[in-house]
Amino acid sequence: AADVLDADFYEFQNLLTDAEQRALREIREFLETEVRPFADDHWDRAESPRHLVPRIAELGLYGNAFPETRAFENSNVFRGWVAMEISRADPSTATFIGVHSGLAMTSIAVGGSDEQRAEWLPVLARGEQIACFGLTEPGHGSDTAKGLETTAERRVGPDGTDEWVLNGAKRWIGNGAFADVVVIWARDVADDQVKGFLVRTPSVGYEATKIERKQSLRTVENADIVLTDVVVPERDRLQRIDGFRDLAVVLRLTRAQVAWQALGVAVGAYECAVAYAKARVQFGKPIASFQLVQQRLADALANITACIGMCVRVSQLQDEGVQKDHHSAMAKAFVSARVRETVALCREICGGNGVQLGGQEQLGIPAGYGIARYFADAEAVYTFEGTYDMNSLIVGRAITGIPAFV
Ligand code: FAD
Repeated sequence: AADVLDADFYEFQNLLTDAEQRALREIREFLETEVRPFADDHWDRAESPRHLVPRIAELGLYGNAFPETRAFENSNVFRGWVAMEISRADPSTATFIGVHSGLAMTSIAVGGSDEQRAEWLPVLARGEQIACFGLTEPGHGSDTAKGLETTAERRVGPDGTDEWVLNGAKRWIGNGAFADVVVIWARDVADDQVKGFLVRTPSVGYEATKIERKQSLRTVENADIVLTDVVVPERDRLQRIDGFRDLAVVLRLTRAQVAWQALGVAVGAYECAVAYAKARVQFGKPIASFQLVQQRLADALANITACIGMCVRVSQLQDEGVQKDHHSAMAKAFVSARVRETVALCREICGGNGVQLGGQEQLGIPAGYGIARYFADAEAVYTFEGTYDMNSLIVGRAITGIPAFV
């Protein structure tokens, strides 16, 4: 079995099967040797670690939720745990993988025909092509269900082909700066329903521009995308998507994973803070010996422990096939809010050195174990895949039966 993390105070990891724990051990080794030591540097340069794509594919981290592509039988609890571990090493790498394998591949798995699944899932699982997910627009983030402005118009093409013409703009699209295939969500002008399209890049009229100077998840290369009369054949329309309701199924599945990913940010930050508190000496003693510092660590660990419990249960509901939108919305909202508190507590423990990338190296804490990156990354994780407010309102709707956001 893989070692139980100090941050896993109640030893939830023991819920994983032997095969899952063996895979986890291998994944952890990869993360500790090939990801975490270089994460600050990638973050600083705002460059995605694309050289890792073949290794990530080899470890089965792409598409391990789908029968076509999973390396071995594994549960949603395992997949969530893996998302947490990747994020614990580097939240940006977790997002890089989460957008491709979570949002984009799940869109194809949920919304694609059998032929589309067979065409795309294996190619994407092998990392031969990178995918992204284009929902958010410059004018619409929280209200995409109602407000989506990107249009899709069906027509008979010049050579008699059944095709669609897409027009509009997308914003914040993770991996969008270099993706080979982009899941674009657009409104059908004929029936006003949201549909999904696979846009292959490059395509005439498709333009992606990397968003510069981002201060959270810097390693993820997000893009602004403009679509001007982009032609997509009908065979590249996701055949099982008939409206926003079907897209909501994708988000229900991926939001639970994002809760785990958020949790990983807190675990990474907590580990930094414990190491720092033991190494940093003030008043002739390690600051870990002071009661107020211990209180912060205890609060951080309690947050993490509660969040692991919530994440485990929501994934179990998913394994049992009874998970609802409001289950994952509550996990995403609650966990990302506790994560924000936790990274703040942990950053506080690291004092001034906690606001500099690598600021803890002078205490013998190696590169990648510094707090600053986790502190900054928590903000984007708190906001994407539904803000705290929107996910809370999904829960509010379940409690009261009254939607507060339409
Ligand atoms: P807005 O919707 O403008 O919200 C601003 C504030 O108003 C928030 O606090 C919100 O909660 C609040 N608010 C809005 N409406 C209500 C209401 N009715 N009641 C109460 N409060 C409300 N999108 C993609 O499609 N693909 C991606 O790969 C992707 N990756 C991302 C990566 C990063 C780093 C970031 C920052 C964003 C990414 N996004 C992506 C976009 C993300 O999903 C949106 O930022 C998010 O949904 C919020 O939308 P917004 O930024 O437009 O904020």
